[in-house]
Amino acid sequence: MGGVDTDGGVEEGDERRAASRRYLRQENGAVIDRSTKEAGKRLKQVVLESLYVVCHWTGVFKIFYSLRRRTTLILAYHNVIPDELFDESIHLGTGHRVSEFQRQIALIASRFKIITDFSASGAGKCIITFDDGYANNIGAAEQLTRLGARGVFFVPVEPVLTGRTLVIDQVLLWFSYVPKGSYVVAGKTISIADDGRAEAFSDFYQWMLAHVERWKTVPESLDASYPLAKLPVPKMLRDIRFRPMNLEELKRLAKDGHLVGCHSWDHRPLAALSDEELCKDFERCESQRWIFNTNAYCYPFGHPAEVDDRVMCACEAFGYECATMYTFTEGKTVNRFALPRLSLPPKLSRYSLDAKLSGFESAIKSVLGRS
Ligand SMILES: [Zn+2]
Repeated sequence: MGGVDTDGGVEEGDERRAASRRYLRQENGAVIDRSTKEAGKRLKQVVLESLYVVCHWTGVFKIFYSLRRRTTLILAYHNVIPDELFDESIHLGTGHRVSEFQRQIALIASRFKIITDFSASGAGKCIITFDDGYANNIGAAEQLTRLGARGVFFVPVEPVLTGRTLVIDQVLLWFSYVPKGSYVVAGKTISIADDGRAEAFSDFYQWMLAHVERWKTVPESLDASYPLAKLPVPKMLRDIRFRPMNLEELKRLAKDGHLVGCHSWDHRPLAALSDEELCKDFERCESQRWIFNTNAYCYPFGHPAEVDDRVMCACEAFGYECATMYTFTEGKTVNRFALPRLSLPPKLSRYSLDAKLSGFESAIKSVLGRS
């Protein structure tokens, strides 16, 4: 999915308190003042950024680049949107502006050999992957081709065949643009405020995980509460962000040397499915395997909550050679059905980019006990 982190909390509070202070409820029930938390985060970022500048000029990053990798680094992207269409909506929480993407891949290309072979070993190699298969990925592929590089595009099968937007992206679309107010969806009351959309979505996503049998009917329920077609999203953004690539477009990607891999049938959280449904998902993909030109697989969502041992076993049983998680653990994973991927948030400075790509940031966090 191309949206916000689903580990968020739930915002609450009455009108008076909300007007003066905003609170975030954490999982353990403690209430933290959000503005203090954000100020702390900003301060930490300033300190880290200064450290990264020093590391750059003293050659520390170069040492980390040369030391850290025995395995190929795998990067994860989602949507790459033209600058003029990009907004700060939650459905673009993991998206990048074209200009940001260009800056990042130029730096990546100068630090790594960009490859598409998941079985390759040796230092200094990097695979660039994209998830979900929306139309904007065509432009991202062209950017890579211009650099002489190729990418791996993981697409769910059902949208390719039907042209339908994934359920999870319809949900993100709704939470991004529905007017402020209170709505009842599938018996749940949802309060939408401009600064609480991510939390409202996270809360609703947790409900979806617990009611996966109702997954496919969710857009219908949202639509009944406020029509998806009436959401105030510019048409060009809707087309490029929510229209899946079709077969012809995928064929062109493959013809240009990019890889197209499987990202499940319809992007449901596989760990939440029954054995029978899980098997059916892989079987449906199997019937359309001809779409793909790589045996690498990418789990939908890809966090531990959505991928368990049962899912990994099914993936191996259906003949895939490896699978990626949407998580990153520096140099620890040897399981080829849980290959870690690193995502690069937008708006990173060149120093922060080097800190992430070289493994320096990960090492620092692990020293501080926060890996
Ligand atoms: Zn996905």
